[in-house]
Amino acid sequence: MMRKVCSLLFALIVMTVVTIQSTDKVYAALTDIPDKYASEINYLIEQEIIFGYPDDTFKPKNAVTRQEAATMIGRSLNLENNRQNTKFPDVTEEHYASGYIASAAEEGIISGYADGTFHPNEKVTRAQMATLIARAFDLEETSSHSFTDVANSAWYYTPINKVATAKITVGYPDGTFKPGKDITREEFSVLMARAMDGNVDSVGQESEPDRTETVIGEKMVTTDGLNVRKGPGTSYDIVGNFSDGQEVKVHEEDGSWRYVSGNGVEGYVHSAYLADIPKPVIAEKIVTTDNLNVRKGPGVSYDIVGKYSDNQKVDVHEVDGDWRLVSGNGVEGYVHSAYLADIPKPVIAEKIVTADSLNVRKGPGTSYDVVGQFTTGQAVDVHKEEGSWRLVSSGSLEGYVHEAYLTDKPSVNRTVAIDPGHGGSDPGAVANGLVEKEVVLDVSLKVREYLRDTGINVVMTRSSDWYPTLDGRVNIANRNNADSFVSVHANAFLSSANGVETFYYAKGMTDREYKSYKLAGYINERLHRSMEMTDRGVKNAGYRVIKATNLPAVLTEIGFLTNDEDAAKLKTQKYRDEAAKAIAMGIVDYYNWRE
Ligand SMILES: [Zn+2]
Repeated sequence: MMRKVCSLLFALIVMTVVTIQSTDKVYAALTDIPDKYASEINYLIEQEIIFGYPDDTFKPKNAVTRQEAATMIGRSLNLENNRQNTKFPDVTEEHYASGYIASAAEEGIISGYADGTFHPNEKVTRAQMATLIARAFDLEETSSHSFTDVANSAWYYTPINKVATAKITVGYPDGTFKPGKDITREEFSVLMARAMDGNVDSVGQESEPDRTETVIGEKMVTTDGLNVRKGPGTSYDIVGNFSDGQEVKVHEEDGSWRYVSGNGVEGYVHSAYLADIPKPVIAEKIVTTDNLNVRKGPGVSYDIVGKYSDNQKVDVHEVDGDWRLVSGNGVEGYVHSAYLADIPKPVIAEKIVTADSLNVRKGPGTSYDVVGQFTTGQAVDVHKEEGSWRLVSSGSLEGYVHEAYLTDKPSVNRTVAIDPGHGGSDPGAVANGLVEKEVVLDVSLKVREYLRDTGINVVMTRSSDWYPTLDGRVNIANRNNADSFVSVHANAFLSSANGVETFYYAKGMTDREYKSYKLAGYINERLHRSMEMTDRGVKNAGYRVIKATNLPAVLTEIGFLTNDEDAAKLKTQKYRDEAAKAIAMGIVDYYNWRE
């Protein structure tokens, strides 16, 4: 057979000798020869088929043009290389490769396009390369070898089959040949070296480049147990799988399939199960204006890429001065921070604070810093429970408080009538420099204050120094749709008598009477603790103001003006506050019980 193979064999013999001496100086300086294909590439360099670039690089990923392919094949076959005008109008003697192109065309190795042109600068596809090699090396043997992407009817079927049968190529690991892919210098070197050497083992097993070297994107797997396959389709073998959230590098696209790698696995997955990797979210905010412009960059000079509506929730990804890179509702871009606000935390309960100077802390424990204080009667929103601690907020103050100092906020609309005893011409008890009508008015007005935030309406039977009749007090309560009645008094008796007591009226135990009894109990319980006074208990008594009404009604005595110790306390704002808080919180307790 053939002059070409003979000349090739001759060349091999000669070059093997040359190689031994010139190896280092010929190619050692090239900096980017991949280890994987070093033997094939160096083999071609030694034989002066292919060369490095002047900057001492090989550029293994560069494409190979038709004139370069013609040149390298021409060199390998020792074809004539006299620059000349060729039969191709686009290859004149100005072309450095015109000699090899003319010779190769004459040998029938290469041909032009239907219009007679050659397209010397066009890139060579793998199918074209297989054709060139099959012709150049007179490959004739065929076999049943097949590639999944090389149809029997394709014009390149036979040359590719010949190249594969000669074990010059084994294709890609997924069983494809990728005939339409441009051939790279390193791939070309692999094929040429094998074609020339004829001994596959001596030039390495791998015929194809590392497919993970090129990264065209990064994605995240969106489903668990995603099959990774050998090829771009469900009929290919499964080589592994990915978990939900796995981040992968994308190396190639093939229809709706992607060749990806991650977590030590590489292969094809369907693009439907890949999503962009979410940017880290550093905060969540809501938009506070309608038609907020979303821009490409951090400033008003940047293009508008979308708009947000009022109350749109957005994720904040980056801070850039006053601007924020945000995303939400499918729009991503920059907005001015002035139009973003914190997202209100969900409210899981509404509570009433039952203690004064209640420390609000940064975390759920007494070791955390105090960030502020709440006062008795303050309504707070509960956002989170952590053991005995509650994350609460009221106004701009937010933090943790112990649940022991919270009580439920009554959810039903309630109205309590507060009745400061006596008034006007009736001073009530007078002792130790105290006048009952003044003390109880002061305390009653404070009760109203402490109830203001609780959602409970307050009706005062008097809020100044005048005397409503007992029936008049009940009428005021009824007229204002009060659903309970609390009359506030201070006691007088022997100077030794002391403490607090609360009266209800019950003839039998009707619903109203039972509620009165409970209301008295709740108030008295808190009262004796807050006043640090003797607990004289709750008592059944037929005082007109609590007897002559259809409302649950109580009369509470907040201490004895006639007792030195009780009186001393009732002279102070501190204990008047304590009395008022106790009555107010007792009323809250009662309404929570009624719910
Ligand atoms: Zn009284």
